Amino acid sequence: MTIQSFLSLSLPRNCTARSNNIRMLEKKVENFNMNRVIDEFEEMTRNADQVQKQTLKEILHKNKSAIYLQNFGINGNTTDPEAFKALVPLVTDLDLEPYIKRMVDGDTSPILTALPVPAISLSSGTSQGRPKFIPFTDELMENTLQLFRTAFAFRNRDFPIDDNGRALQFIFSSKQYISKGGVPVGTATTNVYRNPNFKAGMKAIQSLCCSPDEVIFSPDVHQALYCHLLSGILFRDQVQYVFASFAHGLVHAFRTFEQLWEEVVTDIEDGVLSSRITVPSVRTAMAKLLSGPNPELAETIRTKCMSLSNWYGLIPALFPNAKYVYGIMTGSMEPYVKKLRHYAGELPLVSHDYGSSEGWIAANVKPRLSPEEATFAVVPNLGYFEFLPVSETGETEQEPPVGLTEVKIGQEYEVVITNYAGLYRYRLGDVVKIVGFYNKTPQLKFICRRNLILSINIDKNTERDLQMSVESAAKRLAEEKIEVIDFSSHVDVSTEPGHYVIYWEISGETEDDVLQDCCNCLDKGFIDAGYMSSRKCKTIGALELRVVERGTFRKVQEHFLGLGSSAGQFKMPRCVKPNNVKVLQILCDNVVSRFFSTAFE
Ligand code: AMP
Repeated sequence: MTIQSFLSLSLPRNCTARSNNIRMLEKKVENFNMNRVIDEFEEMTRNADQVQKQTLKEILHKNKSAIYLQNFGINGNTTDPEAFKALVPLVTDLDLEPYIKRMVDGDTSPILTALPVPAISLSSGTSQGRPKFIPFTDELMENTLQLFRTAFAFRNRDFPIDDNGRALQFIFSSKQYISKGGVPVGTATTNVYRNPNFKAGMKAIQSLCCSPDEVIFSPDVHQALYCHLLSGILFRDQVQYVFASFAHGLVHAFRTFEQLWEEVVTDIEDGVLSSRITVPSVRTAMAKLLSGPNPELAETIRTKCMSLSNWYGLIPALFPNAKYVYGIMTGSMEPYVKKLRHYAGELPLVSHDYGSSEGWIAANVKPRLSPEEATFAVVPNLGYFEFLPVSETGETEQEPPVGLTEVKIGQEYEVVITNYAGLYRYRLGDVVKIVGFYNKTPQLKFICRRNLILSINIDKNTERDLQMSVESAAKRLAEEKIEVIDFSSHVDVSTEPGHYVIYWEISGETEDDVLQDCCNCLDKGFIDAGYMSSRKCKTIGALELRVVERGTFRKVQEHFLGLGSSAGQFKMPRCVKPNNVKVLQILCDNVVSRFFSTAFE
């Protein structure tokens, strides 16, 4: 296939009519073919530079009437990336907020996009303490399905699944509301799951959910989780893989199963749904699925559960035909991998791809790599990508961003995205490292979110630094057979000098001297030169470890769900900013013990 014919296949020609797009998607869905999808990806990545230029051209052409672009002197004739970069500035979500707000408020003039957007995505916003609004368009939906098809094709080549199988997917569509300007607002995943093409797209890639739609759209996420588990077990022989967007969601699901499994088994045994399910639509749908007592299945599950040692291998025990466990396991999800591996036993853990509410960026085309080694290949037609060099200290350097094919192996960059949905040279806030190339497109590793930094004076610690410190301290705890269930941090400058506070929820009780060791270990775990020298000369106070009551982090999650975050997209805030008063309050109210480091005395 030539690049021209490839482009005509992959880039929507007439993007103006929503119905045309939908028809086009349906056609693609019907024609899914693993080898063809892989060949298309090969072709596209061999021509990454050309595809990028073409993608930018299409974006600018399609949105040539956007006031935002016209204000910078971009008109329909601008096709050259250099001219585009010279005229349009790099921006953050804060810069675009006033424009997007006008769209949310119902202004239908061409503000960022030529046509009014059909929906707005609400990003989980757990890192900044407030959700952000992001335009969602049909092209983003199409990108999502393209990415799913690509990742599935590579996954299926390595781990083939049965044609008539199903996927146990812990997916939750949070509430969608209509803004006062008449625009539907929901999380990006909600906008995807509610799209008419979602189900057909998932069916085409043999990934039909076990649970009925009513469960996915349940207004109560706890009831939905219970029903996902129950549905998965009812389809246990058909389940081919187990999925949640984030590893946290998978661990949370199976921790919940540990607590509720007897109730699930009783439901199956009696053929009667637990009274905990009160949402009428969910009850009706699940009652249909249960369809009478099944004591045999109940007994099988009971025997399996009772024979496991500390729940090791729970997932393959429940789902004997599952080929892998799938979800984002990189970046801030790394702390959950150990527990997930425990539940997964011998089953491979496959890392889900790299994207955000702003759009998908890269696919996992090497699914055999472990979560620790996982890399992602940028898909060159999903947007126009630039990479802003980041120095070793985490600062964005003075150098200008480089193009997709100009990145250097070994260098870290912040991702800058231009997409069909009105984001132009938008700094995503994620730091990635280039580890190689797949044909001509970069293979990257996710490093961290840039804005999550613990810093008091000259010290600078990223989310990854915090993670590493927690990991090393957790080893001391593991000697006592206790794990860190979840953690967060904050900078306390209410005392002079300021100090880091780390919150830990742990799985059992232990002696104070063990926790004191952990606290010292956490303090020593921050190896940033600025931190260590400040600690030595006491311009930063002793690190404080605050152990919180069991269930505290669940309360934090519930707080975010109440604000409109989706259960599937939720990421625990690793650093709580002072303006996040409510979360700080939840953490502080639940402290059971406190320790101050003596590591630098
Ligand atoms: P949201 O917009 O709420 O869906 O969150 C998107 C963010 O999740 C991204 O900007 C990343 O920080 C993070 N993320 C997405 N995919 C991955 C991945 N594969 N590995 C690590 N972090 C990821």
